[in-house]
Amino acid sequence: MENFPKYYLELIKTWSKFLSIQSPINKNDILNQQLFGNIKIQYNKKPIFFANFGKSGIHTIKDIWDEETKNIKSDNFIYNTLKDKRNWISEWTRLKLAIPKLFKDRLKNVHVDPEPPKNGYYIKNTFEFYDKQNKVVIPSEISLKLIQYSLNLDIVPNCQIKWNIQYNSELPWKKIWINLNKSMSSRKANQISWKIVHNIIYTEQKLFRIGKSNNGKCHFCKTENETLTHLFHSCNIIMVVWEHIFDALKTYNVLNNTVYIPLSEELIILGMYDYNKKYNVITNTIMNTVKWIIWKCRNIIKYQSKSFTSSQLIAYAKRELSSLIESMDKSLSSKKENFAAEIKLIINLIH
Ligand SMILES: [Zn+2]
Repeated sequence: MENFPKYYLELIKTWSKFLSIQSPINKNDILNQQLFGNIKIQYNKKPIFFANFGKSGIHTIKDIWDEETKNIKSDNFIYNTLKDKRNWISEWTRLKLAIPKLFKDRLKNVHVDPEPPKNGYYIKNTFEFYDKQNKVVIPSEISLKLIQYSLNLDIVPNCQIKWNIQYNSELPWKKIWINLNKSMSSRKANQISWKIVHNIIYTEQKLFRIGKSNNGKCHFCKTENETLTHLFHSCNIIMVVWEHIFDALKTYNVLNNTVYIPLSEELIILGMYDYNKKYNVITNTIMNTVKWIIWKCRNIIKYQSKSFTSSQLIAYAKRELSSLIESMDKSLSSKKENFAAEIKLIINLIH
């Protein structure tokens, strides 16, 4: 199983889960189960078939279930119903043993009738799809997403697997996505950060691989390959920018007597998600804006043949942050206003 492609494992797992919801789940489905030749009603691992019962009008579970006593009908009743009385007790005993315990338990419990499907969809033994409201659903109208949702499958974006491997851990993705959404930076800045986490930035390396870049090199340092992590973190020109930003954050932390989270590639790529809510918002707003400036300047170099030094980038980021704060001042709740004031403080600490 180890070397089995993950895709097939998932497929088998999903199919098994799917089959498990196929067993009849509501009382009527169980009552209408055929007793004979039914794969779900087996004795000694084989479906049973007793002609005498069929000829006497006993076909389904309903025919041998006593609703009043909530139990299988009495031996007396069966004896009186059967046309041929020979050999009846042995067949009747086997039949009783063949009825799955699950069926009996469900029939006995009044409260599970009708049991609402736990998953969004379920299949009756007539092979029709039903939804939660017990309405027939046309299979072609069920989207894959809904099936995944109804089977409680986790839909894991590829990028999560990539970063889990890169940073060698099962990252707390829920927190990461929530914090990414809470940043107060501009829409464009938030979009860039979102694209970075999703690993869908068209870096020169990506373009190079599909023959759309001359050399795949970084526009800032012109020497290293422009990969996502190089462009936004490890390029020596960009690194200086982050060092200045994080120096300011360090001073801010010292002033506030709070813990300083040091600069790291993981922090730049995924954003701040593991600190207190306020600090997460503040630092992500700043980092997203800086990432946006990096991307914007990279494109200016690429398409307008200009160049940027680290200190020009820092000055640009400070200007962008200041105008962000100004636009915030007008229409903010007092809580966010407070955040804006803190960001202003940090901008003044960036040298
Ligand atoms: Zn570079």
